[in-house]
Amino acid sequence: MVIETRTPEETFELGKKIGKAAEPGQIYTLTGDLGVGKTVFTQGVAAGLGITEPVNSPTFTIIQIYEGGRLPFYHFDVYRIGDIEEMEEIGYDDYFFGKGICLIEWANLIEDILPENLIRVTIEKDLAEGFDYRRITIEGISDVG
Ligand code: ADP
Ligand code: MG
Repeated sequence: MVIETRTPEETFELGKKIGKAAEPGQIYTLTGDLGVGKTVFTQGVAAGLGITEPVNSPTFTIIQIYEGGRLPFYHFDVYRIGDIEEMEEIGYDDYFFGKGICLIEWANLIEDILPENLIRVTIEKDLAEGFDYRRITIEGISDVG
């Protein structure tokens, strides 16, 4: 599924739809360059789950946990991970195989421990389409509700 957005609000709304339809145990990976809109999208997902706390990139921790919504929301940013053992240390499998929603930024860095059943979200720019244009490709679900 490919969705094109032309404003941050549209990307937020797409995330929100996904958050509303999200089912327990789903793992989303989020890929895209710096400044492409990963945080905007993630904030939409959180809003769709009914989370009212402010959501930002978990820059200094691997995981940020939000429990105020319809389902627990586990937001991972593994960019600074040195070794896969750091994932073991935080007990990642409790989150990956739990009843909440995982969203993982920079998931390619932990490819070895990712389950097969993933929903892969990729956000790309295309400057030929304009500065605020984003192409968002979602693999692993056929509908966003
Ligand atoms: P990332 O987390 O991927 O580094 P952010 O979500 O923090 O990126 O920032 C994305 C930036 O791009 C924001 O300043 C946002 O306003 C801007 N932007 C412009 N157009 C879009 C769009 N269509 N979707 C998402 N963000 C957009
Ligand atoms: Mg970000």
